[in-house]
Amino acid sequence: MKPVIALVGRPNVGKSTLFNRLTGTRDAIVADYAGLTRDRHYGDARQGRHEFIAIDTGGFEPDCTSGIFQEMARQTRQAVAEADAVIFVVDVRAGLSAQDHDIARFLRTANKRVLLAANKAEGMKDGPQLAEFYELGIGEPHPISSAHGQGIRSLIEAALDDLFPELDEDDEPPRDENGRGPTRLAIAGRPNVGKSTLINTWLGEERLVAFDLPGTTRDAIHVPFERDGKAYELIDTAGLRRKGKVFEAIEKFSVVKTLQAIADANVVLLLIDATEGVSDQDAHIAGYALDAGRAVVIAINKWDAIDSYQRELLQRSVEQRLAFLRFAPVLHISAKRRQGLGPLWKAIDDSWASATRKMPTPVLTRILGEAVQYQQPKRVGAYRPKLRYAHQGGQNPPVVVIHGNAVEHVTEVYKRYLEGRIREHFKLVGTPMRIELKSSH
Ligand code: GDP
Ligand code: GDP
Repeated sequence: MKPVIALVGRPNVGKSTLFNRLTGTRDAIVADYAGLTRDRHYGDARQGRHEFIAIDTGGFEPDCTSGIFQEMARQTRQAVAEADAVIFVVDVRAGLSAQDHDIARFLRTANKRVLLAANKAEGMKDGPQLAEFYELGIGEPHPISSAHGQGIRSLIEAALDDLFPELDEDDEPPRDENGRGPTRLAIAGRPNVGKSTLINTWLGEERLVAFDLPGTTRDAIHVPFERDGKAYELIDTAGLRRKGKVFEAIEKFSVVKTLQAIADANVVLLLIDATEGVSDQDAHIAGYALDAGRAVVIAINKWDAIDSYQRELLQRSVEQRLAFLRFAPVLHISAKRRQGLGPLWKAIDDSWASATRKMPTPVLTRILGEAVQYQQPKRVGAYRPKLRYAHQGGQNPPVVVIHGNAVEHVTEVYKRYLEGRIREHFKLVGTPMRIELKSSH
């Protein structure tokens, strides 16, 4: 499980600047709360050897009792509750403020590891400006510059070192005779889409044997099980709890759990509620899974609850709103009535097999040759790209590297055409794939 760091501080101290630096250029996933000027943002971050989830928060004014500021404070408290460590950002140039004291008072009672980041410290020697921040009672201020990328690595190391012991070898999931472990499956979707119903339906199936009752790894449940001789592991995103024979969601939706589950999964099953349609949050989760390079299967649940006209509209809206996931199979199921579940398993298996497909160089090169023969890349000015051979550059997701000349003139449309030919030949479904072009001169 990736650790979680929340960035907290009053407005304008540089939290978003720090967040952007930690998460790179990728889009943040946003928890949607209508009417807020700024929501919590979640993003995957990496610094040195640490990988973690960063949460950016809006400005925090803990003592506000009304309106938007109160809501922002609630958001910040929630982010702190979800975090393993908190980075409290202050502005050394502006100096200490009453608001900083209020925030410090709240953080001292939050029972979390808190680090004080003195931002905008570029070109500043350790000195009087820093010293005053000791008053906050949070400990030593770490001078950083989010804008210039200074001091950030040591800040993150201080936040995360020792927090998570290295995993023991014994914690690795068992592998079968082919050296493959269980297929790890994350079930993601909004509150009430039917996640618990689906899981209970599955675990109640006779063909499915949960061979180890759910142990809790930190706060997420991993349920190992076997179906038709194949091993799987279910990664919960809803805070499931066992209650007698069935599972119950204790938390209807958690962005952190969803992100952690997606990071840990081989295949992400995105559930969409047929009675609600595709929401912004569905699209955010889908985008995140795509960024993480995960195989994705989309299942529209509660298919039983809508008529044929609505079904047609919904199908079209899924195709439009999730167009960037065109590779993902779309299934129609009813978790409650146990309908469509066989094809769903097949789609999950096919997607993971596709993500890890081996593509031999001679076969790829032959497909490339045939594709070019059928349709050549367009000439651009004096150049016509020449594509010579291809090899596999990676798995999960598959990467195909194509070598040739003048490849910088190959259009996106042509790349998609090549991708289509490769997907068709290797029957790749449910997995993103990437084509990289390399000039050989
Ligand atoms: P937030 O409201 O806390 O998220 O703050 P922002 O990230 O939006 O930053 C507020 C202002 O501070 C912006 O004008 C930033 O360009 C500026 N800023 C952020 N980090 C630094 C820094 O390290 N040095 C300086 N000089 N300015 C910074
Ligand atoms: P979760 O929050 O995603 O775990 O959703 P639940 O599994 O708690 O389901 C929310 C509601 O949707 C419950 O009232 C379920 O009975 C209902 N539901 C779940 N699956 C289906 C389905 O396939 N068809 C219909 N009509 N209702 C369903």
